[in-house]
Amino acid sequence: MKPVIIAVAITGSLPRKADNPAVPILPEEQIRSTAEAFEAGASLVHIHVRNDDETPSSSPERFGIVQAGIQRLCPGMIVQFSTGGRGRDPSQRGSSLYLRPDMASLSTGSVNFPSIVYENQPPLVEQLATQMKEHEVLPEIEIFDLSHLHGARRLADKGLLGEHPHIQFVMGVKNALPAEERLLDLMLGEMRTLFPHATWSACGIGANQSTVMRWALVRGADGIRTGLEDNIRLSKQRLAASNAELVAQAVAEIRLAGRVPATPAEARKTLGLRSA
Ligand code: ZN
Repeated sequence: MKPVIIAVAITGSLPRKADNPAVPILPEEQIRSTAEAFEAGASLVHIHVRNDDETPSSSPERFGIVQAGIQRLCPGMIVQFSTGGRGRDPSQRGSSLYLRPDMASLSTGSVNFPSIVYENQPPLVEQLATQMKEHEVLPEIEIFDLSHLHGARRLADKGLLGEHPHIQFVMGVKNALPAEERLLDLMLGEMRTLFPHATWSACGIGANQSTVMRWALVRGADGIRTGLEDNIRLSKQRLAASNAELVAQAVAEIRLAGRVPATPAEARKTLGLRSA
């Protein structure tokens, strides 16, 4: 089986710093945290930026600073911007794509989250996909529900998405898809019908992180995702001290499954990305 791409979602958009002070918020904290995660074995970083008051930001300037810092300290690491909506003005969600990150997250449908509706209206989804195409940014399709795979297929049929998107199954978000092994199989079957050439990964939120990782690894996933955005704990008893600590845990899971973590060059090859 191919080497496994470890994606690290360093920050997220929830006001979580009080829950775990290790969540990096300021650009310099984000760059440092990513560099540690890179050293630990991550080859892809998923980035949200924040304002100084810790609220979610869409500032291209912030995204640019973090992108440049990571490119300097983490040679070859794949940079992925979030275009996720929580706490952001919809019209600004694609405003940093002109910076041409390697990848960007793209949600292809709406879904309930713990206390809000995560809204992705069809015109906005098409607009984001169009911008990604224009700037040659590879979308990572975030699947929070089976219908989102069909949303992605509709984009591909309109020529707004290629035939080898990277697809990520997100499981265990309260009010969305529960983390159930049979649901992963169901979605994988659907993905193989709709996008036979897609690459894929899966992530489990909170206490589901390691469990979903194991399901994905035995099914030949191209990647797995970890990081403080998804899970702030190393175990029931202990908060994670850093993103790097979570990445080290992911490396251990990969080895346990008899596989190896991908280098940045291997990760780029798997995803069909230009070299750094
Ligand atoms: Zn995110």
